[in-house]
Amino acid sequence: MRYEDILSQRIQNLNPSGIRKFFDLLQEMEDTISLGVGEPDFQTPWHIREAGVYSLEKGFTRYTSNAGLMELRREISAYMDRHYHLSYDPETQILVTVGGSEGLDLAFRALIDPGDEVIIPVPSFVCYGPMVEMAGGVPVYLEMKEENQFRLTPQELAPLLTKRTKALLLPFPSNPTGGIMEREDLEAVARVLEGTSVMVVSDEIYAELTYGGLNHVSMANLPQMQDRTIVINGLSKSHSMTGWRMGFACGPAPILAQMIKLHQFGIMSAPTTSQYAAVEALRNGDRDVVNMREEYDGRRRFLVSGLRKLGLSCFEPKGAFYVFPCIRGLGLTSDEFCERLLLSQGVAVISGSAFGPGGEGYVRCCYAASMQDLTKALDRIGAFLKELKP
Ligand code: PMP
Repeated sequence: MRYEDILSQRIQNLNPSGIRKFFDLLQEMEDTISLGVGEPDFQTPWHIREAGVYSLEKGFTRYTSNAGLMELRREISAYMDRHYHLSYDPETQILVTVGGSEGLDLAFRALIDPGDEVIIPVPSFVCYGPMVEMAGGVPVYLEMKEENQFRLTPQELAPLLTKRTKALLLPFPSNPTGGIMEREDLEAVARVLEGTSVMVVSDEIYAELTYGGLNHVSMANLPQMQDRTIVINGLSKSHSMTGWRMGFACGPAPILAQMIKLHQFGIMSAPTTSQYAAVEALRNGDRDVVNMREEYDGRRRFLVSGLRKLGLSCFEPKGAFYVFPCIRGLGLTSDEFCERLLLSQGVAVISGSAFGPGGEGYVRCCYAASMQDLTKALDRIGAFLKELKP
């Protein structure tokens, strides 16, 4: 059987994530330190886990309504208001999804007809482009630059808009750069979209993780943009709940209605145990979020200053939990740097080129790791840099 003749061409043409190969290599080695995986290192706080366990004890083991437990949608609505001053109706404007990932996938599938273009600022999360392609759309990449603090600028956006542009993806706070957009940056982008019908899909999964006194601002906070923005968020990063697969999408009711239809046919309802845990997380977890953010902030400052002391130029990240040092001038590509650092010192960081055009020349270090590991990793990176310049 020649499977390549029967499998979808569109799916076969997708390149697998560049990160996977690297983790296969890492698994075979001993005494490694990984600053590779993009996930919190904290356990989900106990009161949240307990709420999940308790829901099982009570026998809540069936489907919930397609859009998610009403109790949870009410909590999401209250949380979005309390944290971001955004108002969403739990009946019609909120959908509980299987992680932020499902929310993104549904948003693209609800918007895209074959051949529609979606503008994706890069370097960014590896899944956006493939998701757009899986929905039959065409990703149009926009390279963000370090000199603009890895923000999206109106000058770079304007020339990419065409009659086929269906949506703009906003990946802030950013994985992998740690870049954010402040209100005036968003206003400038909104002015470029004025007079078009381009929708915004705003991935705000790292919204709780901003530092230096800067609070997250959503595109939906701009009054003229609220009815054109789908906000994707979730509890994976904010509440250290990646494995629970709890996300949510908020936006205009007619769009949410189509997303709920896709979710109903493809998923039915998000995991029930996780939904009960999420109710507790949103109702009583604000303190946990603050504690984790403070801890990440300390690690962020430690890693940035450590990398700079080693002579690596390092953009100061204002959000998420990544540092994105520049490795140009060392005579290695980003892929070579990562592979040699791993083989020589057992430290895993991710090549910037995995995050799309514009990532070459950088590597991503995730600081959702213990201070002890960060300290060891810095020592070893220092030793590696000495090997390169004897
Ligand atoms: N968006 C970004 C920018 C991410 O980094 C991730 C996870 N790495 C996701 C979305 C997906 O998150 P979830 O686990 O909620 O599906």
